[in-house]
Amino acid sequence: MSGSTHAGGEAAERVVIIGSGPAGWTAAIYAARANLSPIVYEGVPSANPAPVLPGGQLMLTTEVENYPGFPEGVSGTELMELFRAQAMRFGTRVVGENIERCELGGSPFTLHSSGGSTVRAHAVILATGATANWIGLPSELRLATTGGGVSACAVCDGALPPFRDQPLAVVGGGDTAMEEASYLAKFGSKVYVIHRRGELRASKAMQDRVLANPKIEMVWNSRVSDVLGKDFIEGIELTSTIDGSTRSLPVRGLFIAIGHSPATGFLSGSGVELDEAGYVRLRTRGSMTNIEGVFAAGDVADSVYRQAITASGMGCQAAIESERWLAARGIH
Ligand code: NAP
Repeated sequence: MSGSTHAGGEAAERVVIIGSGPAGWTAAIYAARANLSPIVYEGVPSANPAPVLPGGQLMLTTEVENYPGFPEGVSGTELMELFRAQAMRFGTRVVGENIERCELGGSPFTLHSSGGSTVRAHAVILATGATANWIGLPSELRLATTGGGVSACAVCDGALPPFRDQPLAVVGGGDTAMEEASYLAKFGSKVYVIHRRGELRASKAMQDRVLANPKIEMVWNSRVSDVLGKDFIEGIELTSTIDGSTRSLPVRGLFIAIGHSPATGFLSGSGVELDEAGYVRLRTRGSMTNIEGVFAAGDVADSVYRQAITASGMGCQAAIESERWLAARGIH
């Protein structure tokens, strides 16, 4: 395969990047411009229960208004096509498969793909992201994927025109739900926080901020059992978790904040250290994991910021660090 090097008599790629969101493509742009001829495994679409697409979370975002350089905004899909094209312009090779299993005992590493082949790599960058958890209602997923007013990221979408001065709802009782409710209260006419229990999971400080906000109303012991509206959300059906009774609540935006799941299942048994929530744990500084030569970038290693721009920055770091790590071993 072109771009391969020989170390100890074995042919291996210099850098393989797993994942094709902002972190993966940015890592590819930097690695390609450093003549490392990277391969990106961009993944295959799946739908379980919500769509997961090559390109990541932005593929499910209609309008991106906070990515610098696009003063008029850009669609999530267009932004990811631009990232991909830029990476390919510098010679990135792209494989439309998942990596399903990794042997990371020592460099060069061996990666097994969904296509049944293996690839050897001196350095690996993990950039598989994290997916938002969804309730799993067909109406929710349909409106989330068609710009119908259902979103899993208030910071990304909450300031968009359709949500301004409208009643909105957030689902969840953790810190993310509290943060999103406080954020949305700046734009919406009213924000309901729908929580399945009578007690929040969020930290006390974040709870206090929400409970003191006159624009936010808690809806306790309730779950969203349907999302109403054909092309755009018109309301939600709530079911009591105490007595099963139902009622509808008119809202023009629904923000799901019930946690994220990092895409780290393929690392099972690989030795890469994960935190309690399943995110890749990085060394104190930089993007190296606990395994020398294995780097991580973006949401797969970041449960806090989860933004395209922060994922890109991490991808850049991982590429630069992998280049230096390879150079220190005489691999250019
Ligand atoms: P989280 O702490 O896991 O909370 C998820 C919430 O969603 C819980 O209240 C849970 O209800 C609810 N939930 C889960 N599945 C549900 C379902 N199917 N239907 C309805 N509700 C459901 O997740 P998170 O809020 O995203 O926070 C993740 C981590 O990031 C936490 O460690 C958090 O502290 C941290 N974080 C910190 C900050 C900050 O400090 N600024 C901001 C955001 C996040 P139950 O409570 O009943 O389980």
